[in-house]
Amino acid sequence: MVAGTPVISEEMVEQAVAFHGHLCPGLAMGIRAAEIALLEVGRCTEEWEVAAQVETDMCAVDAIQLLVGCTFGRGTLMHLDYGKNAYTFTSRANGKTIRIVSKPDAGGPLSDEHLALWQKMRERTMTPEDKKRFWQLQNARARAILDAPLESLYQFTQPPALLPRRNGSPVYTCCEACGEMVARSKARTVGDKTLCVPCAGRSNQGGSPIDSIPLQ
Ligand SMILES: [Zn+2]
Ligand SMILES: [Zn+2]
Repeated sequence: MVAGTPVISEEMVEQAVAFHGHLCPGLAMGIRAAEIALLEVGRCTEEWEVAAQVETDMCAVDAIQLLVGCTFGRGTLMHLDYGKNAYTFTSRANGKTIRIVSKPDAGGPLSDEHLALWQKMRERTMTPEDKKRFWQLQNARARAILDAPLESLYQFTQPPALLPRRNGSPVYTCCEACGEMVARSKARTVGDKTLCVPCAGRSNQGGSPIDSIPLQ
């Protein structure tokens, strides 16, 4: 990276907005998370050397996929359904792993007007004028996040001990209930049967939840 060159150009912001569909504060937070990833571990290239573990499935992840290059298809994007704006990036190339989590006051407090419009949004009582104003405020907040110092948005925390790794090409097996092919590493053994997750759930009705069936 050339000194003085911004890591994220305006063109990259525009690409992220086009990919996601709008400019919102969540996407802006994702763009800034991507900026940290690019600075610390670099971009996931055709070597697939950078992986991201994301603890949310919200807007920000679109920016991470596009700008860092970590995707489900490459096996370099892992989703943990924790509902946290937290991201772990790891690089096989430089051996570095970082976990960042958004600060509770990232982006500053919402104005009363913005809060009131959010409330209307939830109640589905927005007028066309409300909607227009809401998106003006959303865009302004997103722009402020794009311009804010990184340290006001994210804090670095201890990365998890277990790092995401690509499993390589999966070995497939046949679910003995539905007959559909399923990656062996995702199949469950219930009694003497090898089952896919949904079938294991069905065979287990009234018993323990799916997640308690041991992974094979
Ligand atoms: Zn969004
Ligand atoms: Zn099945």
